[in-house]
Amino acid sequence: MTSAPQQLRAPRGTRDLHGETSRAWGWMEAAFRGLAGRAGFREIRTPIFESTDVFTRGVGEATDIVGKEMYTFLDRKGRSLSLRPEGTAPVVRAVLENGLLQPGAITKLFYIGSMFRYDRPQAGRYRQFDQVGIELIGSPYPAADAEVIALAADMLHAYGLDDATVMVNSVGDAACRPAYEDAIRDAVRPDLAALCPECRVRFETRPLRILDCKVPGCQALAATVPPPRASLCAPCAEHFAEVLSLLDILGVRYRVAGDLVRGLDYYTRTVFEVHYGTMGAQTALFGGGRYDGLVEQLGGPATPSVGYAAGIDRMLLAMSAAGVAPWGEDTLDVAIICGADELRPRAQALARQLRTRWSVDVDVQRRAFGKQLQAAGKRGARLALIFDAKAGDGALALKDMTTGEQIAVDAADVVSAIAAKLAPI
Ligand code: AMP
Repeated sequence: MTSAPQQLRAPRGTRDLHGETSRAWGWMEAAFRGLAGRAGFREIRTPIFESTDVFTRGVGEATDIVGKEMYTFLDRKGRSLSLRPEGTAPVVRAVLENGLLQPGAITKLFYIGSMFRYDRPQAGRYRQFDQVGIELIGSPYPAADAEVIALAADMLHAYGLDDATVMVNSVGDAACRPAYEDAIRDAVRPDLAALCPECRVRFETRPLRILDCKVPGCQALAATVPPPRASLCAPCAEHFAEVLSLLDILGVRYRVAGDLVRGLDYYTRTVFEVHYGTMGAQTALFGGGRYDGLVEQLGGPATPSVGYAAGIDRMLLAMSAAGVAPWGEDTLDVAIICGADELRPRAQALARQLRTRWSVDVDVQRRAFGKQLQAAGKRGARLALIFDAKAGDGALALKDMTTGEQIAVDAADVVSAIAAKLAPI
């Protein structure tokens, strides 16, 4: 007895995007491309896998996304490669490799693409998810931080997510962070045993990350730690104050979040996240900040930089919670309806010609006339262009599918007749 082959499924934590979701995706990518492009950012596309070193050196082995969540494998020559868990380290690697850094100039890049993290899937958290991100490489000034955060706000506005909260903080730099790390250790030391095993390691190596731990016991302890801003050195405090003042001038609404530290090692000074309240557990839409040490860490010259990454999957969830769907309906301008088999090749040829201007569908299933018309209605066609065998050679009819009104058109006048019907009122 032969059994039916087992149905294959997409791997856990991945999804197929189709129908309205893929339409929304296209819209979101295009809107982001437009926004970033108008702000002078140019697209960069990097491979979806990199040498594992790009992430261990760039993001840090002690971070969750590199230490615990990375898809790492050996290729056939035994090289360690990893699917990218984030976009910034690959962009910096690419910028250095392609000589895109000019002394004294800034490099403004954006990217769109899939990231991969082996985490427990849940609503808003996937193993393959898409991010759009920007990187402004080469400016140490608060204006760069403000530019990037303002662009995040513009994007939220374009997506109808003005209700989202932009949270900003400063985590200091190499000058003041050691003192702050000591302050964390001092605050936590009496209750060290209450930390999770990982945070006990972080206590030694990266105490800042205790503040980012999701384990309730660690969170309770983290709440007793003085906020990083209390330990900022004068230049970092001044930088942060200037960023906030610029955001005020630009009219970007934000909240200073003293406990925001971000999970990656490369951040210095400004960090920010965007959260959307009504989305369940995964409320973070964007994460970003300044990464003044990363370019150097990956072998380049000291190059202060700032950027963000926003998750498309989660922004789409937020948009659906907010009830906004600016991508509109899946419409069709013209459905060609064919009344006789011998006319089908002509109909198909005309479809190709009309597609230089409009979206046009033509039957390829040899469906009967009535069925084609029915399908056109279901598909939401605005016009039906009817090849009617009875009407004689060259005679066509154009039917307005909304009003039902039908007019005869000569084959030579088809384009102008359609244009007149579809012209915006
Ligand atoms: P992160 O660098 O981890 O802060 O990620 C930046 C943004 O990417 C987040 O704010 C989310 O919108 C999105 N993101 C991160 N991880 C996931 C995931 N596993 N699934 C879906 N979106 C994610």
